Amino acid sequence: HAKKHGKKQWVQYKTGMENNQKRLSVIAQQLSFALTNKELSLHYQPVIDYSTGKIASFEALLRWYNDELGFVSPEEAISVAEETGLIYEIENWVLDQALHDLLIFKDLFHTNITMAVNLSGLHLVNPNLVDTILYMLDKHDLQPHDLTIELTESVLLTDVNHSNSPINALTSRNIKVSIDDFGTGYSSLAYLHTIPATTVKVDKSFLENINSTLTLECIQRLVTDLSMLNLIEGIETREQAELLNSLGYHLQQGYYHGRPKPISYYLSADTHRQSGVCDC
Ligand code: C2E
Ligand code: MG
Ligand code: MG
Ligand code: MG
Repeated sequence: HAKKHGKKQWVQYKTGMENNQKRLSVIAQQLSFALTNKELSLHYQPVIDYSTGKIASFEALLRWYNDELGFVSPEEAISVAEETGLIYEIENWVLDQALHDLLIFKDLFHTNITMAVNLSGLHLVNPNLVDTILYMLDKHDLQPHDLTIELTESVLLTDVNHSNSPINALTSRNIKVSIDDFGTGYSSLAYLHTIPATTVKVDKSFLENINSTLTLECIQRLVTDLSMLNLIEGIETREQAELLNSLGYHLQQGYYHGRPKPISYYLSADTHRQSGVCDC
């Protein structure tokens, strides 16, 4: 009966694969209309500066709702967009929308607030990347230092081999570059000094393990020695927030400080508007 059982499993597996392939092709097809159909939106998650208690910046996070597919996660949407080449169009829209909304946030809270946008590594091979970003900033009457580009560690590690580093091209124009999900890649500490980034965004996985305190202290010291900014994401409790603050992580992001929300949420939250201070 084992054989029979095995066969049945294989059939289920195959069907699963077929369903997955089907889903991916539906995503690819639907995604090509998502921009024109206005199905894409952004949620904004605050970064709190613990030393002032104020919002230091917002991160723009892609959201996609499609009638046929329901909510599609940004990871899934982005990976399909990378394969189909739609990524450039979509992330140009993200950049444009996020900078447009940054002006509103500056008005709502305070003028020093900046915006962080996640970019796919595919953009780094585009020689027009810096010009496109500068054009976009100019269009919205913003300065290069108003923007941070978040790139994942794996993308940045491949960048060190290039002589004309796109990261350098961004930072030399005063556009900040942040290493997202820091600590999830390989050999990260050894390579940190070779990455010309402005900010290190420590991954939330360090928070799941109480034994990470020493590692977090080491990262904090190394990042400070390299004159980079240190940020930590995934803070879910007050205990975590206070411990990390005591370790020197003043820039914090996570559900505890605020979940990603559409801009309408901030426009209607009177307390936020009046004080510019988060309820933390
Ligand atoms: P990320 O850039 O590392 O963003 C952080 C993710 O963690 C977000 O998930 C956020 O909602 C979630 N998060 C924030 N605080 C907490 C917390 O306290 N606990 C937990 N468990 N999670 C928290 P989201 O919005 O689903 O985005 C997932 C990933 O998708 C992002 O990870 C980013 O890599 C990617 N992404 C989102 N928007 C874009 C985009 O416009 N372009 C590109 N290339 N990637 C994007
Ligand atoms: Mg990010
Ligand atoms: Mg991250
Ligand atoms: Mg991530």
